[in-house]
Amino acid sequence: MSPNVPYLDDSPLVREALGRASVLYTDLDGTLVAKGGSVLADAEGTPSTATAEAIVGVNRAGLDIVPVSGRNRLQLRELTQLLGWHSYIAEAGAIIVHGTGLDAEVILDIGQWQEGTFPEGETPFEIIVRSGAYDTLTAAFPGRIEHFAPWQLDREVTLLLRGCLDTAEAQSVLDQIQPPIDIVDNGRLRSYGTLTCRDMAPHAYHVVPRGVCKARAIARDLAARGLTQADAIAIGDSATDIEMASAVGALVLVDNAFDSPGVLAELERRGPERVFRTRTRRSEGWAETARAWLDARDA
Ligand SMILES: [Mg+2]
Repeated sequence: MSPNVPYLDDSPLVREALGRASVLYTDLDGTLVAKGGSVLADAEGTPSTATAEAIVGVNRAGLDIVPVSGRNRLQLRELTQLLGWHSYIAEAGAIIVHGTGLDAEVILDIGQWQEGTFPEGETPFEIIVRSGAYDTLTAAFPGRIEHFAPWQLDREVTLLLRGCLDTAEAQSVLDQIQPPIDIVDNGRLRSYGTLTCRDMAPHAYHVVPRGVCKARAIARDLAARGLTQADAIAIGDSATDIEMASAVGALVLVDNAFDSPGVLAELERRGPERVFRTRTRRSEGWAETARAWLDARDA
């Protein structure tokens, strides 16, 4: 059963939230980009300029768009600059960056870990590798978890994995190692890689310092801008993205989000407060949201 989430074009509440917002925090994969990863395509990957036009419209209006993604800093810097934006949040909330030049300001979030309790020069990523988290998971769930190659490279905070896991079960396994780390589900993948599980779709997972998440990064970013929750909206497609609703005035889920049992379960668990949905999928749903935002700002 699909939870009762109102459509964007059907709710005065979301119109009000969009009208107040000056910043959009956006997920990328499954949300901004089409199937196959392009912004110059409709949801299914056929060439289209609709999403690019929506981006240009928002840029012209002087509104801010901040990518918030599991991708690493190098990947996000390129994309942010290419699309005419100025800041981004990488590695599922662990890295907040203002600026795309050499003078960019970079904040690494280590969640509940204590500053200064780890060896000088070691990155949070290296600490998670040294903790044995990967070997612990592969031993507990043989054939069900692996590095998400090649995207696990060049990371500074989170360990990026591909797998078919029950996240609560995986979390209880990780709870036995130190320092405290969380595993978060960053959405569905198309390829199994070398996994042997076939009883569920493969997902991307991040192993993060306990407490690191997209919502916390958004709250920190808004504070740095001197803005409040009501000044922002967010858009996404995965179970992890739903937590962003607690940090912004409204969260929009693109229609394909509702294909995911994880999304439905998460909506069931937390309720649909401040969550809305588009009528279209992926990049088309993103463009639908951007147009609604511009309309609401003009009203
Ligand atoms: Mg996504």
